[in-house]
Amino acid sequence: MKIPINIQSGELNTENPMVVGIDLGTTHSLVAYVKNGEVKVVRDDNSRNALVPSIVFIDENGDTFVGNYAKEKLISAPERTIYSAKRLMGKSYHDINTDSHPLAYQIIDSDKEAMVKVWIDERAYTPVELSASILKELKLKVEKQLGAVISKVVITVPAYFNDAQRQATKDAGKLAGLDVLRIVNEPTAAALAYGIGLDPEKSERVVVYDLGGGTFDVSILDIVDGVFDVLSTNGDTYLGGDDIDRLIVNYWLEQHPELRRESNGSFQELRIIAESAKKSLSQSTEFHTEYQGITLNLSLSHFNAIIKPLVDTTIDCCKNALKDAKLDKSEIDRIIFVGGSTRIPYIQERLSEYFEKSVDTSMNPDEVVAMGAAIQADILAGNNKDFLLLDVTPLSLGIETVGGLMDAVISRNSKVPCKVGRNYTTSVDGQKNLRISVFQGERDMVADNRKLGEFTLTNIPPMPAGIPKIEIVFQLDVDGILKVSATELRSGVKQEIKIKSTYGISEEEMALMLKDSIENAEVDMKARALNEAINEGKYVVQSSLKFIKQNESFLSIEQIEKLGNLTDSIEKAISQQSKDAIQKAINELNDYSAPIAQEALDMNIQNAILGTHVGK
Ligand code: ADP
Ligand code: MG
Repeated sequence: MKIPINIQSGELNTENPMVVGIDLGTTHSLVAYVKNGEVKVVRDDNSRNALVPSIVFIDENGDTFVGNYAKEKLISAPERTIYSAKRLMGKSYHDINTDSHPLAYQIIDSDKEAMVKVWIDERAYTPVELSASILKELKLKVEKQLGAVISKVVITVPAYFNDAQRQATKDAGKLAGLDVLRIVNEPTAAALAYGIGLDPEKSERVVVYDLGGGTFDVSILDIVDGVFDVLSTNGDTYLGGDDIDRLIVNYWLEQHPELRRESNGSFQELRIIAESAKKSLSQSTEFHTEYQGITLNLSLSHFNAIIKPLVDTTIDCCKNALKDAKLDKSEIDRIIFVGGSTRIPYIQERLSEYFEKSVDTSMNPDEVVAMGAAIQADILAGNNKDFLLLDVTPLSLGIETVGGLMDAVISRNSKVPCKVGRNYTTSVDGQKNLRISVFQGERDMVADNRKLGEFTLTNIPPMPAGIPKIEIVFQLDVDGILKVSATELRSGVKQEIKIKSTYGISEEEMALMLKDSIENAEVDMKARALNEAINEGKYVVQSSLKFIKQNESFLSIEQIEKLGNLTDSIEKAISQQSKDAIQKAINELNDYSAPIAQEALDMNIQNAILGTHVGK
């Protein structure tokens, strides 16, 4: 028997309409789909441009605009124009606040640990909402082109995105009215677009070098039997094309100091010229233009010299990624380029020189990620049955063992497909049957998890308890179908699972269950902290009583009384089971006793002091 779990939603897999792929980028986003086996990138009718700036402008009426129009507002209304919302996804105010890169718009939060929000006109916008606006824009674009409603999508994220960031991305999809079938790593998508991994016979090690507008990511992928494994990731979340533009602006300002005065401190226009200079130098060796009566020049050789340190940094990141993957650069089969900035010829030269290999630049580096997402989407839509799907399972799968404990056989975030076997035995002499109950969830007790079904391994030959060797194998395939089998290895009696229930869990339930395990982790942590405080309190009480006793002759009656009272306070706080009260009482005793203990020491009267808790 099989349990058909849709790995993302927990629901049954039913027939699929068209599924599209979305590259939700820091600087640009775009959407692509596969039609009749061909990848199509959605472009503007007139400009042939596929890239939608990932910028959201919110006007005085609270209306939202995304894309090129919003990009223009970066200069005229920076406080209500949000760029790089992707950087805020799944982050708390604390995460952002410790970031050394200021944003032009205002972020707020009452609670340091809560998710960050953007503040515009008395209203807070979450990064999820902002990303949802971008996704809605892309949804409209692809619907217009296809003339059909689109709801199922695959969205890409950086390989280093953590769970919170991935979940936030999925939530943004949901908010945009989309059903996010899968979150795919950007380097994986890029590799797919290059056709890597589509031949199950071939295994390859690939470096994906992604230099975008504001970020640099390098990932090393190991692709075996169509399964993508991210061996390592490295990079710099604040290194990209924007920095190159800034370097050019700085160079011009050095050449023409008078520009500083002219521009009134705002170099936005210069930056735009710098970007076009940079782009034109991908094709020519010389750039000049007139700006406010001044001729701005940039030669290719000078441009290369300006960006050399930046390129050096990216190569250092590649070295670190190789080190983490425990690979030598000679073991890399292929290097692929992603991100608009990799169009710079000097970067191509430097990388092929370092890896001693030519770099594959045959595809449009702005579009490969979306194209790969579209290929993945097509596979999910069931149009491409030959290919393997790759994913991780969002919740652990396991069985119930003695005492109602959950024994996770396949743990959360395991790669799919996977197969895991575990050995068990019987607990009663002559036991003939063994009931195997399958659960999904993160809690220690099966009662807190979700039961998927159960079956019974029958006809175990009678043996003393502990002798039968029962192997239980969980096999989760690419479509999220879980097969459970049990075999008594000594006799060879085997049973495939006879699961009675075939329902999975909804996404809401999944979110709740994850929340539950996180919240309970918090409860556990609090309990541990209280225990530690109680132990410390008891230790201090003991030391204090010892100190009073040993120094009776030296201490004044007043001091003895005060020390006794402070010690009592600790005991009282312990009985109240309050961590903070215990800590406070300990501190008060320490503060009072420290100088006395010091005196006692000085007078050489006694060396028995309040241990490490005194005079901290
Ligand atoms: P992201 O993935 O961060 O959204 P992109 O992959 O869209 O970013 O890359 C955008 C960056 O690529 C911008 O800084 C842009 O100036 C740069 N870029 C685009 N074309 C070229 C080119 N021909 N030469 C150099 N840089 C380019
Ligand atoms: Mg990108």
